[in-house]
Amino acid sequence: MFKKGTKLYSILTGSCPKCHEESMFKNKNPYILSEALSMNENCSNCGTKYKIEPSFFYGSMYVSYPVGIAFAAAAFVISFFVFEANINVVFISIIATLILFMPVILRLSRNIWINFFMHYDKSLAKK
Ligand SMILES: [Zn+2]
Repeated sequence: MFKKGTKLYSILTGSCPKCHEESMFKNKNPYILSEALSMNENCSNCGTKYKIEPSFFYGSMYVSYPVGIAFAAAAFVISFFVFEANINVVFISIIATLILFMPVILRLSRNIWINFFMHYDKSLAKK
């Protein structure tokens, strides 16, 4: 399931949605906050332009909402059912999770968003 050629691979690694060979982001580490969202213009392997229209990645805000909910739900399940924390602690742990994972959430939603519009192309991968 998690190998080159699947959308999940491109989404989880942030690689080019067409060839899966290159990272779309200039810096692979999302926690260098000044570079968290700086992306390459084109794929250096297949030449795909990531920003297919101006402000293309504003649309990823729609995706970041359900992605954020997924992280919040995970924080809820872990703190409430695994650690059996009281409701205040659960609330704080959800807020903390959303803040801590914000760079990851932002990148994941960009990866998911661009994968709606671009699909893996085997012929580009081998260039
Ligand atoms: Zn590419």
